[in-house]
Amino acid sequence: VVADDRLIERSKYYCKSEVLAQAQKEMVNYKSTGVSVMELSHRSSDFTKILTGAENNLRKLLNIPNNYKVIFLQGGGTGQFSALPLNLLALKPSMSADYVVTGSWSAKAAQEAAKYGKVNLVLPKTKKYTDIPDPSTWTLNPEASYLYYCANETIHGVEFQHIPEFCGVPLIADMSSNILTRDIDVSKFGAIFAGAQKNIGCAGVTLVIIREDLIGKALPICPIIFDFQVQVGNNSLYNTPPTYSIYIMGLVFEWILEQGGVAKMEEWAIKKSSAVYDVIDSSNGFYVCPLDKGCRSRMNIPFRIGSAQGDEALEKKFIQEAENAKLISLKGHRNVKRSVS
Ligand code: PMP
Repeated sequence: VVADDRLIERSKYYCKSEVLAQAQKEMVNYKSTGVSVMELSHRSSDFTKILTGAENNLRKLLNIPNNYKVIFLQGGGTGQFSALPLNLLALKPSMSADYVVTGSWSAKAAQEAAKYGKVNLVLPKTKKYTDIPDPSTWTLNPEASYLYYCANETIHGVEFQHIPEFCGVPLIADMSSNILTRDIDVSKFGAIFAGAQKNIGCAGVTLVIIREDLIGKALPICPIIFDFQVQVGNNSLYNTPPTYSIYIMGLVFEWILEQGGVAKMEEWAIKKSSAVYDVIDSSNGFYVCPLDKGCRSRMNIPFRIGSAQGDEALEKKFIQEAENAKLISLKGHRNVKRSVS
């Protein structure tokens, strides 16, 4: 591993030290309460301030219009793969939803939705996941209850650079791994969701931002904790929310605002990812990124070493030497055999 200066510079772009240092400082005595956030009742005024503060800061960061609700849920991104169809399929008599499958996370979402209604796969079925076919080739259903896509496929590295066009059908986006790293116009979406653990904190809390007119049509079989109307009506406190994860998320939002907001995160994401893509593209085929340049993720960069299929021995060596240089967790996802990302 050649430790490139541009990559070493990355440490500047981490909120880790500041947010964790603050959490450490407040760990056993949160704002002179004498207890930690973990011990606060979720109905106490101190926790209410944390919850409201997090929501207000998110609204500022994404410029969320007033006709959108913000819900803090549990169950992760995978929970939303079920919650969304359970809440939204009945928006239209078709009970059918369009899914744009560009990687394994949207594939899983489509598979889950098919348990509750009809799923129309908008793109031809493939396991390749290296590009986004031109929207003129998509088979959209104007009667669909919603159109679903994953804004950034965390395993395959396919990221939409633009919000897809749609014909009045509510657009639903999984932004688990790129939320707050690019400026988006929330009013173009029916709903956006994101698990916290990639960009905005620690595992446990999942954000849902949803246009209010889409709430209230949950199927009778929808579990109550996933019923958006129930959760909105209870300010995300129908049951005990993941209080500590919400607190950490709130600290991350404050930190992002202090740095200059989403525009700053976007600038850094471009800088960091370009540094890696530059090394890949100028390596004469030693590093191979299979993705079409128009959909390369700024968040997660899958690549192989030695050839397009990857040279097992070289990849093992790379991971070992990377670890020696304190570049950890570079080994790719188990679903993409042995790749590094
Ligand atoms: N969507 C995306 C884009 C993801 O990256 C992940 C996993 N990290 C999920 C959904 C599933 O999230 P979870 O593990 O929180 O269920």
